[in-house]
Amino acid sequence: MTGHSPLLTLNNGIPMPAVGLGVFQSPPDHTATAVESALAEGYRLIDTAAAYANDRQVGDGIRRAGIPRDDLFIETKVWISDYGYNATLHAFDKSAGKLGVDRLDLLLLHQPLPSRFDLTLDAYRALEKLLADGKVRAIGVSNFTPEHLQRLLVETSVVPAVNQIEVHPYFQQTTLQRLHAEHGIRTQAWSPIGGITSYRGGEKRTFDDSTLLEIGRQHGKSAAQVMLRWHLQEGRSAIPKSTKPARIAENFDIFDFELSADQIAAIDALDTGVRGGPDPDSITLETYGREIPEA
Ligand code: NDP
Repeated sequence: MTGHSPLLTLNNGIPMPAVGLGVFQSPPDHTATAVESALAEGYRLIDTAAAYANDRQVGDGIRRAGIPRDDLFIETKVWISDYGYNATLHAFDKSAGKLGVDRLDLLLLHQPLPSRFDLTLDAYRALEKLLADGKVRAIGVSNFTPEHLQRLLVETSVVPAVNQIEVHPYFQQTTLQRLHAEHGIRTQAWSPIGGITSYRGGEKRTFDDSTLLEIGRQHGKSAAQVMLRWHLQEGRSAIPKSTKPARIAENFDIFDFELSADQIAAIDALDTGVRGGPDPDSITLETYGREIPEA
């Protein structure tokens, strides 16, 4: 156990651990063990999604760890196939049922659906209802661009607590992060250690970056730990994924060192402006739709 994550306060006053475990691409038969090792290590935030098809196993890991429910922060995401007011209300039941909880700490819309923004707005209005009913403690979005956020802010009532977006040293989205800051929306970084620069077979992997490795050498830390510390010091939440206990521990062993202003500036300078994930405007029901099973 390497300590506890600092807490970030969301715009409705709810505290959220800054660092959590991600489970995208965690095979179902490794997910419960990954969640259990993370919780034993001191993690209290788990980020999953209906589309990851491993939420039942996330629930198993949570139950096996035996940590009081109120000490955990469980967040999941509604997939686009479940957008629309009633469908999204039902998506909550599906997710909560699979996870084995009656309440979620944070529920996000996984993607904007630009060609059906009406459905996206109705889905968000369902999140507002779930929030009002006390079924979720905070609501938010993921992969929203400045344009999507502006439209959402105009057409709905509750300012999202979080926008979970791709942020790692090679893709930093600083304009979007500034917009978040103006509206009190917390940036949560997905692929925070640049996994997407690696598992997609990219040529330039953050893990091999000479600047990150050199900064790590100065602190006795790995490139992954340097990246996670950079997120913390810039006020972001980060949800690194691993199914390997040693890496789960490594990614949480980041609370005992401090990057200097020069080191932060050197990491900021690594931005290439090139996205690793899909362009949010390219997401359609036809290309990405898929049925999310009942609980
Ligand atoms: P990460 O940046 O977390 O990197 C994960 C990858 O890096 C995995 O291949 C993992 O492999 C490997 N890895 C983990 N720790 C280390 C380490 N210390 N040293 C070297 N390699 C390491 O990428 P993700 O894309 O998984 O993003 C994290 C989480 O963000 C996801 O799991 C998911 O919860 C969320 N996410 C959300 C998206 C969205 O659209 N909202 C999109 C993508 C991710 P291994 O498991 O073998 O250790």
